[in-house]
Amino acid sequence: MLTLDPEESPFRSRTPTHVAIPHELMVAIACRQCGTVAGSTSATFCRRCGLPYGEPPRHDVELPSCHVCYQTVDDDGRLPSLDAPGLRVDLHRHLAEHDRHPVGDDEWLESLRLGDRVRIGRWSAPFDVVRRYLVTGVVEGGRRRAFEHNTIVTAMTQIKRFGHGATILGDQPEWQAARAAVSELMERYHLRRR
Ligand SMILES: [Zn+2]
Ligand SMILES: [Zn+2]
Repeated sequence: MLTLDPEESPFRSRTPTHVAIPHELMVAIACRQCGTVAGSTSATFCRRCGLPYGEPPRHDVELPSCHVCYQTVDDDGRLPSLDAPGLRVDLHRHLAEHDRHPVGDDEWLESLRLGDRVRIGRWSAPFDVVRRYLVTGVVEGGRRRAFEHNTIVTAMTQIKRFGHGATILGDQPEWQAARAAVSELMERYHLRRR
């Protein structure tokens, strides 16, 4: 059940934008609360959550995250622009900016994909878990989702905890080999494209 503070009425007049957006950065308008893109230029309300376009998100909602870099939008429903320092952009424009600002070599990573898994040397692991680790350094299975503990996940957890090339008590050759494979994967993913 949502309650609206009268001060927060969606019908109040919009605050003007003081930052001029360069023309080449203009993309379709998107909801700052859920990231849904407007179906037409005349649309004034988000068809998904009802928020007027341009309004900051309500305080009681879960804010959307970027599926490329995993950042969640700030309380104003925006993220700092990757293109223009000082400019804050909605999630839709942020996603468009990733075309010029990739987080890693996803084309290559996709080439290792097998369904929802990724092949790493003689092992495989859940694609999403591995990609999140490569981008953020965090090992997690996503919200409310337990992930299987396999060799690669163990290797990622060990590297995160002990660093690369650490001496680990009770280490096993299998883990060592998997850690080497994960380190190699990390290096290759972040190689600058020519
Ligand atoms: Zn919305
Ligand atoms: Zn992003």
